[in-house]
Amino acid sequence: MRTRLLNLRVPAGGNERRAAELLLEEGRIAAVLDPGAEASAEEVVDLGGALVLPGAIDCHVHFDDPGFTEREDFATGTRAAAAGGVTCVCDMPCTSLPPVTDVETLEAKLAVIRPKALVDYMLWGGVSANLLDSRGWACRLEELVAAGVAAIKVYLLSGMETFRDLDADEMRRVLEATARLGVPVGVHAEDRALVAELTAAARARGGDGPRDYAASRPAEAEVRAVETVIGLCRATGARAHIVHLASGRALDLVTAAREERLLLSAETCPHFLAHTAADFERLGSQLKTAPVVKSAEDRDRLWRGLADGELQLVASDHAAGVWPEEKSTGSIWTDYGGVPGVELMLPYLFSEGVQRGRLTLERLVEVVSTAPAELLGVGHRKGRLQAGLDADLAVLDEQAEWTVRAAGLHNKNRYTPLEGWAFTGRVRETWVRGRRVFAGDMNGGEWFAVPPAGRWIRRGVEA
Ligand SMILES: [Zn+2]
Repeated sequence: MRTRLLNLRVPAGGNERRAAELLLEEGRIAAVLDPGAEASAEEVVDLGGALVLPGAIDCHVHFDDPGFTEREDFATGTRAAAAGGVTCVCDMPCTSLPPVTDVETLEAKLAVIRPKALVDYMLWGGVSANLLDSRGWACRLEELVAAGVAAIKVYLLSGMETFRDLDADEMRRVLEATARLGVPVGVHAEDRALVAELTAAARARGGDGPRDYAASRPAEAEVRAVETVIGLCRATGARAHIVHLASGRALDLVTAAREERLLLSAETCPHFLAHTAADFERLGSQLKTAPVVKSAEDRDRLWRGLADGELQLVASDHAAGVWPEEKSTGSIWTDYGGVPGVELMLPYLFSEGVQRGRLTLERLVEVVSTAPAELLGVGHRKGRLQAGLDADLAVLDEQAEWTVRAAGLHNKNRYTPLEGWAFTGRVRETWVRGRRVFAGDMNGGEWFAVPPAGRWIRRGVEA
């Protein structure tokens, strides 16, 4: 069946939009047409002049399923994604049980999440110190990559017993393996020794507030870890990706490494673009993340880096704790670190980026769709509005004004440091491979497709 979407606009370079129509067939974009062009279709949908973007791809989410489903699960996580114009997520390997570190654990996870997904999904595999301690880890990693995980996650600093961090030597072994396998490695880059030392010092003096937590994870910790990653990229030729980059100084290092032609990229997150240490003092644990928000100078540097291409992409690092219990344990040190973000990422970047002139519309599409698709190895089928690619669409009402309310989100534990922010631009519909999965109207009415509507998308496998 062919579906014709008419009365819409698409990005046309820079901040331009042009009137267009889309012809969808068999889940793909069959053609991007001028208005009124000759083409037959069995179904016609009028989008009322809306702006159509390629669906956002959130390459860094923690949907916690199976294992920590009191925090999130794949049904609620992908529902929130759909409501936010995100058509594909890539879920981290470390926050489900068992962690995804070999084909068996991958299959176990797929069996659980497959019936629940409302949008397409990819999966990170992981290498933890736990895995390196076991026999045959390299062989298991190779099988995992062959099975189609999108990338490999490692930590230079992890708080999880079930997914322990690597030292530089262990990471070198992993990068030597992934360089051979041709898969990128996402690195949580904070220096373990420095953070341990500063945490001990802060706790010894009785510090127990946002300022103390922030002091335990300074920009210097990120800088040292990024230096470690760059040295290992240079030594091994591996491709690495710094997840949730927070500081301007670390971005300077990434830029220099890219000028050196090392295979390094980086993402930042909405919370590092929206918030600073002063906000953390005001909001408390609600904004606790790792790394932690930095200064206003860092925030402004990240925006500039996104605009000029030094920073390649934005991901939400969606990680919700049980609300309010896990965010109010009585101590900043034990409160859960993480914020839900998959649903607000695209609206936030559209409103605070495009509407405020910090990002062009063209750049927005690159940082939330095209670049994530390339990182995950699916640029041939996702991330652009182009004939032949998956018909994954985010349909925006550019002028809609609304106020962010946690109660209006769709993930399981609803809180957000963006509470009360006024946004301009709202997701009205989300389409995954030619099928509408979410629609919302001006009056708050909502409709969702019935899961499963999303499919597992494997790296390196043709559609
Ligand atoms: Zn994360």
